[in-house]
Amino acid sequence: MLPDNVLTWIKTPYDFPQNNLTIEEIDKKIDSIILSQRNKPVEEIQTPINLKKLKYYTYYDFKQFGIIGDNSHFTDKDSAYYIDAGGQRQIFQYDNVFILSTFHAFEDELNVYATIRAFLILKNKYPFIYENLIQKTEKSPLQNSSLKKDIPNFGFLNINRYYVISIHENESKKSNATTTCYNLGYKQPLNNYWTCENNAHLIFINKNTIRNGGTYNNSNTIYNIADKKEAQIKYLFDGLIQTIVHERIHNYIANNMSLNSYLNYIRNDNSLIIGNNGDASTYTFIEEPIVTNTVNKLFQKYGGLSQEIMSYYTDLFNNTQLPNCRSYTKYDALKQKLKQLSEKVSENDERTIMTIDF
Ligand SMILES: [Zn+2]
Repeated sequence: MLPDNVLTWIKTPYDFPQNNLTIEEIDKKIDSIILSQRNKPVEEIQTPINLKKLKYYTYYDFKQFGIIGDNSHFTDKDSAYYIDAGGQRQIFQYDNVFILSTFHAFEDELNVYATIRAFLILKNKYPFIYENLIQKTEKSPLQNSSLKKDIPNFGFLNINRYYVISIHENESKKSNATTTCYNLGYKQPLNNYWTCENNAHLIFINKNTIRNGGTYNNSNTIYNIADKKEAQIKYLFDGLIQTIVHERIHNYIANNMSLNSYLNYIRNDNSLIIGNNGDASTYTFIEEPIVTNTVNKLFQKYGGLSQEIMSYYTDLFNNTQLPNCRSYTKYDALKQKLKQLSEKVSENDERTIMTIDF
């Protein structure tokens, strides 16, 4: 049950009375509100959210939450641990997006609102991205395959049904990354090639990362804004979409690697670790630069993100990730293999073979 005033303090010039409309009518209106602003930069787009859809839970044991198939399918214990480790949660649900936060304060509600807004903008401003990274991944890539009769629990195979976005101070425990993602749900390796997993995509976002404008414990790197609140708002209304798309691509790889030799190669070949001077903390799988580069290319093509976000991630790829790859002793062999597997063999620029084609 949604308490009074949750999120309703967030006002936009496009607000309209929702009480007498159906959920579908409200959705339609919100879609048209965003569509009418689709040529604006992302950070300027203003939209109400569908308050009739918003659900709120003050507490639950995530393992008991019925979203992830039935409980017998919740077999990824590590993920369950991470979710439970933070204890009590504020949980918001908007369609198949669940947003978890620790407290119930202005800041948390703003994070929740901005996450919902990001999904709405993806849907209406970036239909190509939405179709490929949201809609298609909610259906099995094997849907029309004759294999399906032979695969147990076909309904869970390589499908993403839910998004669980956990925004918490201690979430990013593994690395300096903006987010980390784990796969929840039914997980059963069928053999070395096929896996059943991913019916929920869990994205951890460190709250401090948001406060710092998008980089872990390192203020001002993206936006060069000294004021924390300003940096937070700038990230939430601009950079967060980039973050979600980035993590969705990692999940897309997980969902499709059984069917795509390029994706299978970049995810599964452990020889593809790029590192500096044996320092494990700098190790990155080749997947990471490929995801960064793919996101960059998508937003270069479709526009809308701020110059700061675009140049931060373009620089990251060009000046850190690509040189790291080039310094890798087996880089030539790696490039050769990528070229062989990539559709874009005719183009010689290595950036083109480090891109995922949807
Ligand atoms: Zn990543």
